[in-house]
Amino acid sequence: EKASIGVTGLAVMGRNLARNLARHGYRVAVHNRTPQRTRDLVERFGSEGEFVPAYSAESFVAALSRPRQIVVMVKAGAATDAVIDEFAELLEPGDVLVDAGNAHFADTRRREAALRERGLHFVGTGVSGGEEGALHGPSIMPGGSEESYRTLGPLLEDIAAKVDGTPCCAHIGPDGSGHFVKMVHNGIEYSDMQLIAESFDLLRGALGYEPAQIAEVFRTWNTGRLDSYLIEITSEVLAHTDAETGRPFVDVIADQAEQKGTGRWTVQTGLDLGIPISGIAEATFARSLSGHTALRAAAADLAGPPRTPLSGSAAQRFADDVEQALYASKVVAYAQGFDQIRAAGQEYGWNIDLGSVAAIWRGGCIIRAKFLDDIRAAFAADPAQPTLLTSGEFRKALEAAQDSWRSVVATAVRLGIPTPGLSTALAYYDGVRAPRLPAALVQAQRDYFGAHTYRRVDREGTFHTEWAEPTRPESRVDQP
Ligand code: NDP
Repeated sequence: EKASIGVTGLAVMGRNLARNLARHGYRVAVHNRTPQRTRDLVERFGSEGEFVPAYSAESFVAALSRPRQIVVMVKAGAATDAVIDEFAELLEPGDVLVDAGNAHFADTRRREAALRERGLHFVGTGVSGGEEGALHGPSIMPGGSEESYRTLGPLLEDIAAKVDGTPCCAHIGPDGSGHFVKMVHNGIEYSDMQLIAESFDLLRGALGYEPAQIAEVFRTWNTGRLDSYLIEITSEVLAHTDAETGRPFVDVIADQAEQKGTGRWTVQTGLDLGIPISGIAEATFARSLSGHTALRAAAADLAGPPRTPLSGSAAQRFADDVEQALYASKVVAYAQGFDQIRAAGQEYGWNIDLGSVAAIWRGGCIIRAKFLDDIRAAFAADPAQPTLLTSGEFRKALEAAQDSWRSVVATAVRLGIPTPGLSTALAYYDGVRAPRLPAALVQAQRDYFGAHTYRRVDREGTFHTEWAEPTRPESRVDQP
């Protein structure tokens, strides 16, 4: 009997995906460049289901029923190309090659186009949830042809996380769309984590709370609208004490956040598309700043205000204010991320259903949260809305939050506590709602030094002013 699917690349992610498939009753062919990993998997987990170990690419392919479906779960980059090249030779038209690693969507577009020429379906799919998710139910974001989804979709939906019985897996769109959506998921994750970290820093700096107390605050928040995996693990981390020193665990960790690159890709792509994703950008830059130890050491004695903790009613209100600021900033960060997905959809002709993206992020992935169901509902009510900020419930929540939000950012500025995420979110909110922006002045400056022209508020046309002329004559420069 042939296997219905194969997994190649059996490090943590691939192994757990293969086990998840086997636990769901699928016969799974398993393969890895280094055969030891394949043997290990079968020895340790063989009893969980039906595995067909293969120790060469040829025998792996031969073990699969048609159309063959192979999930590639190897280190993203050159390894993915090497594995694709190897298998493309052995597969036949109609077969499906799935890249479930964290590829850049542009690579996925390139690979998909090349394999399509050979009659193969290439499915770039985002998988989120880490190793635990891969085993127990990740959020899955497959791109690729609709035809490939007809055979592959049911398997992926089977092994995905479920929320209210609905699988956290849906066909995103053609070619690189799945990896694009996964990339933005990770960008939003950066932003979410940064906002939570700033909230912690504020509760500590402005109230003098200990991490264990802040763990309690987060635990309470996690019972409300902020209910999410990231808030939950934050509260657990903050409650944790270092066994060796007895200090709060968060204090014994070096304050340098690393990154593997998906945040950077999201920001680079946001710049290319011209979509302001300032929340994700600030979060990514905040990680960079944290790692610049020489810079930080050199700047450590720069002047700052005294960090006098709040007192009285301001202190009493502050934790609630931070909850409001965190929530409002989160709405902005997600609104920006969804804007970016929409813009990419238009740029690349993907026709992505944003409500469906929100729906499959409700479970399995790192940013899973109650909140995502509200986003799903907002897009369901009005798929064409220009921004989440103006949709019914979010508009009201932002209005209700804004006084607290402003007060939290003001307090942070006054005490010298850096809050790039909360601050940029508020600046974006004020920016998009401003009746007039100083961009008029910027455009005048551009016309002054570079003859870049401008449009007027009161007349049609494109104009240029001869700024060096004493009389400054204005001329219309387009053809009326
Ligand atoms: P790694 O990214 O550490 O990759 C190791 C695997 O890649 C091994 O199976 C290794 O084979 C294989 N490999 C490396 N180079 C080659 C090559 N040239 N030819 C063939 N195989 C090669 O494994 P992970 O399980 O951590 O991640 C797999 C993918 O999933 C990555 O793309 C990652 O970005 C993505 N991902 C990871 C998540 C996580 O939480 N770890 C979450 C979501 C996605 P060998 O044993 O022979 O060395």
